[in-house]
Amino acid sequence: MAKHEEMNPFKLAQAQFDQVAEQMGLEPAVREMLRWPLREFRFQIPVRMDDGTIKVFFGFRVQHNDARGPAKGGIRFAANETLDTVRALATWMTWKCAVADIPLGGGKGGVVVDPSKLSTGEKERLCREWIDAIWKNLGPRNDVPAPDVGTTAQMMGWMMDEYSKLRGEYVPGVITGKPVGGGGSLGRTAATGFGVVVTIREAMKHLGMKPAGRTASIQGFGNVAQHAARTFIEMLGGRVICVSCWDRKDQTSYTFSKAEGIDPYFLQSITDQYGTIDKEKAHKAGYGIEDGEAWLAKDVDVLIPAAVEGVITGDNVQRVSKQVKILAEGANGPTLLNADEVLKERRIFVIPDFLCNAGGVTCSYFEQVQNDMNYYWPEEEVLTKLDQKMASAFKAVLAMSLEKQLYMRDAAYWVAIASVERAMRLRGWL
Ligand code: NAD
Repeated sequence: MAKHEEMNPFKLAQAQFDQVAEQMGLEPAVREMLRWPLREFRFQIPVRMDDGTIKVFFGFRVQHNDARGPAKGGIRFAANETLDTVRALATWMTWKCAVADIPLGGGKGGVVVDPSKLSTGEKERLCREWIDAIWKNLGPRNDVPAPDVGTTAQMMGWMMDEYSKLRGEYVPGVITGKPVGGGGSLGRTAATGFGVVVTIREAMKHLGMKPAGRTASIQGFGNVAQHAARTFIEMLGGRVICVSCWDRKDQTSYTFSKAEGIDPYFLQSITDQYGTIDKEKAHKAGYGIEDGEAWLAKDVDVLIPAAVEGVITGDNVQRVSKQVKILAEGANGPTLLNADEVLKERRIFVIPDFLCNAGGVTCSYFEQVQNDMNYYWPEEEVLTKLDQKMASAFKAVLAMSLEKQLYMRDAAYWVAIASVERAMRLRGWL
């Protein structure tokens, strides 16, 4: 793939799909259907700003595939949002829901906006107007959005309220990631990081590694990284020797390390809502502070990129230590195609993103189930069910990888694509 194409996430999503479709010998009609979203919406959202003027925003909703169940996927509020980004993310959601074996399809939405420039009132009006523009194509049985980059649980609460008003009845299952007490599920905040560690535990079982005392290096210290760090320590008895973050003031990233193991609770207490760790306080507490890429070169058993996409590249993959046995992709799309080739050659066991971080969407599915029943589970029950779902998803991908001698990423694609194809055939689409 040409370099400029690699920068376009939708081209990347299509290239990954094409590669496996070729291996699977997928029929041309199936390929054509799955390379493209089923439906795409692009709409204008006029919002009255606090100063009385009207500002027009552009919004998107893409439903990539809903053969296995209602489309599912977050809404991003980002200044650089494009239709191709939303298409790519919707496509990846189809594979993620299929690999996690939850009865949902893939969707994604967005608005071109920098939410940090809006007042609370402007954010609320934008959320409500987004729903007004697209509500007829949403619903617990059609398409179920959720939060993503730039959107919050509170925003989901406003959106659910707006949808319920339009429908004339309380419909909490139209959207997930709502606040607890407002239709949200316990365990949702921890779910993705927790699920990442369940897949690491299963990978260790497969590789014959005893988890106690194993070490990990994590990129990021936001929602996924914080909970992955805690769970790695508490569930596996492991040691996290570093985490990293983006420092908005310095416009660069840093790695924070401690050889005897970081204390995630202490670090959380000195981290702001955007996942930026206070350097001075960390330094005083004895943490080593290095450049933002140092996390990648640590001598550890497990690497967990849990920050942003495209961080493991053809240029820096050589810095990965020989000691690393598992790469658990907590973030979406952290590994570029040319780095993937090197990881394959080096036989590092990769837990691909849409398997590794499927804990979040699985818990969103649980939220919807609880909304439907109007009966809410305690956190322990949510996490126990999540553990079972993640472990069985991992086992299905591993079995495929062993049966067909496939790289884990290709095996995950294979499991997901086969499941969506089967659903399309059972419904008579093909
Ligand atoms: P977040 O915003 O809570 O945290 C992101 C963290 O990454 C912050 O600590 C930030 O400082 C850090 N960061 C940003 N740029 C960095 C850089 N260049 N170098 C080092 N650190 C950097 O986000 P999150 O919810 O934890 O999501 C992290 C990743 O996981 C994203 O790829 C997201 O799409 C993916 N993901 C999240 C969920 C979820 O439930 N939150 C579910 C599935 C996938």
